Amino acid sequence: MLTVPAYAATSATEPLAPTTVERRDVGPHDVLIDIKYCGICHSDIHNVRSEWGPATYPLVPGHEIAGIVTQVGSEVTRHAVGDRVGVGCMVNSCRECVPCLRGEEQYCLKGNTLTYGSIDADGTLTQGGYSTHVVVNDDFVVTIPEGLGLDEAAPLLCAGITTYSPLRRWGAGPDKKVAVIGLGGLGHMAVKIAHAMGAEVTVLSQSLKKMDDGLRLGADHYYATGDPATFEQLAGTFDVILNTVSAKLDLDTFLGLLAVGGTMVNVGAPAEPLSLNVFSLIMQGRVYAGSLIGGIRETQEMLDFCAEHGIGAEVEIIPAEKINEAYERVLASDVRYRFVIDTATLA
Ligand code: NAP
Ligand code: ZN
Ligand code: ZN
Repeated sequence: MLTVPAYAATSATEPLAPTTVERRDVGPHDVLIDIKYCGICHSDIHNVRSEWGPATYPLVPGHEIAGIVTQVGSEVTRHAVGDRVGVGCMVNSCRECVPCLRGEEQYCLKGNTLTYGSIDADGTLTQGGYSTHVVVNDDFVVTIPEGLGLDEAAPLLCAGITTYSPLRRWGAGPDKKVAVIGLGGLGHMAVKIAHAMGAEVTVLSQSLKKMDDGLRLGADHYYATGDPATFEQLAGTFDVILNTVSAKLDLDTFLGLLAVGGTMVNVGAPAEPLSLNVFSLIMQGRVYAGSLIGGIRETQEMLDFCAEHGIGAEVEIIPAEKINEAYERVLASDVRYRFVIDTATLA
């Protein structure tokens, strides 16, 4: 057992604070990772504040982990000491059900083991990447390709795969018009990835404040959803709309922007239920869909795609003591475009 520094939430209302967590001994199929960077995802905030249901405390968040392998178990074949690796939202799954066999471990029928807040095989609670080290089953560890810095790669483990997977599935590419709602952590990755896939990309942000950034990141067009004219101008335009917004939206208004047969995919996960008028879908054969992160194989594919296209996240690196401040800035849509914790500041 290894006792390592971490940052944890102790309740839904208290600020996060320094602590330690225990990491299990490296088993035959495990790797020990020296975490270098961990991204702050809005899901960490939803979880820490028990917005998706009661969390178990103390809770160490963090599922955008990038680091270096420092020890491997006797049966490990995929990684070696010194490898640059990443861990996302999952650290295990049943491996036997239909989704697992298809490589969609995120949809494991027995419920996968999340990087934090899940009961692990040994009965302990998993604890995430706001920490200096983690022990993870080799099959849930991906390789960070050369050419991607570990800091800019960390957010790819959640924000990258969560946007890459639906963009691939719903055919973002040449001759496709893709809109991204919300230019935050997920949104900025969606813009970069959809642009690299060859789509014509439009950002739909609350205001035009971040327009220069949006265009620099690869968007072809940028509109403010605070301006009602946007919805008249763009009615019936898009083949795919990716909704990354962490709060409740008026879905009908946004569904009106889809072309006939177009698809709006919700990856944003607000706590409150969203509602829609079915006529927003029926009259133009539109589709409203959801998507959860991506499987391990697809996560590796996404990392390789990003390395090939020179895509990393735009990060603001912070010391651990700024985590609570960063949470407030994320909540105020004041993130450009992912906070990443330098875990050396935890030691
Ligand atoms: P984020 O960095 O906070 O970005 C969310 C963006 O949504 C903000 O930057 C803002 O963009 C926009 N927004 C926020 N509040 C809004 C409001 N009241 N009305 C309209 N727009 C608003 O968050 P994130 O880390 O990208 O995560 C986004 C959501 O995805 C969260 O709910 C998270 O839990 C969820 N998520 C889901 C998955 C999955 O697998 N499905 C994976 C990861 C995260 P503008 O300033 O440009 O308007
Ligand atoms: Zn996440
Ligand atoms: Zn399964």
